[in-house]
Amino acid sequence: MTDPHNRRGVMLVFCAPSGAGKTTITRQLLEKDDRISLSVSATTRDARPGEEEGKHYFFKSVDAFKHMIADDELLEWAEVFGNYYGTPKAPVEKALSDGHDVLFDIDWQGARQLRDKGGADVVSVFILPPSSAELERRLRDRGQDADDVIMKRMAKAGAEISHWEEFDYVLINDDLERCLADVQHIIGAERIKRGRQTGLPSFVKKLLTD
Ligand code: 5GP
Repeated sequence: MTDPHNRRGVMLVFCAPSGAGKTTITRQLLEKDDRISLSVSATTRDARPGEEEGKHYFFKSVDAFKHMIADDELLEWAEVFGNYYGTPKAPVEKALSDGHDVLFDIDWQGARQLRDKGGADVVSVFILPPSSAELERRLRDRGQDADDVIMKRMAKAGAEISHWEEFDYVLINDDLERCLADVQHIIGAERIKRGRQTGLPSFVKKLLTD
């Protein structure tokens, strides 16, 4: 008999301007929930201190990245801050069909492509910072980027935020714990959506015939 709990995985897309707290929420969510894993993107940007190949990103040359595009190995890709970023297709497809959820930490351009391709599998969440002053403070506190890069990211934040209406859920990250709890509620509810529970039809049929 089909397991009544069989379901297709959720594609949970997280978008936010850099500094909104997306990375912290992502990390904590992954620690607390072993049914969801992070899609590791490919990028042409250099690794930052502490970043590991295959864990944070797959670091690629521009040539290698263009080959991945040509070979249709990416589910989506975009140019962000002058570098290419993209989502490898194969691991995502395997996880979803195994009933495992996948989290995407990508920009609005990637979110739009995933929504177009992933249809009902995609649940999108936009995370807003509580204020622009707080956003700038968080970017400076990271101490990872030069001043001109921070200014570039601040300028880009406005553009990123202007896409908030394309998302299913919008959270304001003024309290990390509450924001994380909200994300957990979203996933919890999405997992039990009727259309996602592929084991239900045979389960209900058996309920009615036994
Ligand atoms: P960072 O260089 O700070 O790690 O990421 C810069 C931006 O690129 C962030 O907005 C991040 O969400 C986005 N990004 C990371 N991976 C991907 C990806 O695979 N596709 C797209 N479209 N954006 C990505």
